[in-house]
Amino acid sequence: MKITFPHMGNTYIAVKALLDDIGAEYVIPPINSKRAMEIGTKYAPEMACLPLKINIGNYIEAYEQGADTILIAGGRGPCRFGYYCEMSREILCDNGYGMDVVVLEPPDGDIIKFIGKIKKLAGGLNMYQILKVIKNTTLVAKSVDELERLVFKIRPRELQKGSTDRIYEGFRKRVVDVKGSLEILKLVEDTKNQLLKLEIDKNFKPLRIGIVGEIYTTIDSYSSFNIDSILGNMGVEVYRANTISGWIIEHILKAVVPFTKDKRYAEAAKPYLGTMIGGHAQETIGNTILYARGGFDGIIQIYPLTCMPEIVAESILPAVEMDYKIPILTLIIDEMTGEAGYMTRVEAFVDLLNKRKERVDIVEDLVLFGD
Ligand code: SF4
Repeated sequence: MKITFPHMGNTYIAVKALLDDIGAEYVIPPINSKRAMEIGTKYAPEMACLPLKINIGNYIEAYEQGADTILIAGGRGPCRFGYYCEMSREILCDNGYGMDVVVLEPPDGDIIKFIGKIKKLAGGLNMYQILKVIKNTTLVAKSVDELERLVFKIRPRELQKGSTDRIYEGFRKRVVDVKGSLEILKLVEDTKNQLLKLEIDKNFKPLRIGIVGEIYTTIDSYSSFNIDSILGNMGVEVYRANTISGWIIEHILKAVVPFTKDKRYAEAAKPYLGTMIGGHAQETIGNTILYARGGFDGIIQIYPLTCMPEIVAESILPAVEMDYKIPILTLIIDEMTGEAGYMTRVEAFVDLLNKRKERVDIVEDLVLFGD
């Protein structure tokens, strides 16, 4: 059995740690690219969500390198993610790419069933070893998310332009050559130390923008045209509540162990969207409100064309924008989205936020000096 899995931002690092630790044979698909998108667009239905199309491209590129089994996360709730697994299997099979699909679903309190799935991949490992693998995979996901947060902080403040990106991109390439969770954790620590040595402008106060929306397009830099890096290099500090470790902890681990779920976003969203409607719509509304309360300068919502939960969230956001007086930009992405038009909208939004901030600063100065 040669396993592969779909790309979504840095997910490949946590999955690699898991597969290394259980001793599985695997193929990491080539990083997301135009080719993966074109392959997926050719085989997936036109109205399928963009992440499914890119994932189909990932599977076929990995199949070309010898993969025969796909490891995929399952989902619940009223959106199409729940039947992605079956759709992928049928699309691949109909087009001559016969691959087995193993779904790691949120376990609904049944840890034995969940461990059984990992055991199917892990062969000879006992229960204790599997629990240790789950713990280390979670640690890797958490430390990579922390590294990314550090990148978001340093990028707008760096004195030598491009130095943060150089270190971070170097890490993302080098990590495929190290083996196992412990080596990955060490590489993450080394990379953090390199970043912390960079010279930064400690007095610079960047704009703060919260990124909300559908998890794939907010996390995956290829689909979002590298929005984190674009904004960071324009002097903006980016915050993003959607993370890989958050997903693992909130949707997988807390479905098994009785820890309290983080429901701050659901509480905040309640007056506008009181129930979970699938995807990350409730998080989009709730986190927008939490960012607004935290004094952020603006919000960018990103989602793939035809994403049902985010269409609902988008229709609610104007009310939040008015109530909390925070500017919101929505970016919808599909395979036809042109980078130039996208960039123009992002640049115009950042210009608007800068002007707005200047006005607020002037008014604060006038109040301060009693004019
Ligand atoms: S959240 Fe949106 S993009 Fe993701 S599967 Fe559901 S409808 Fe598709």
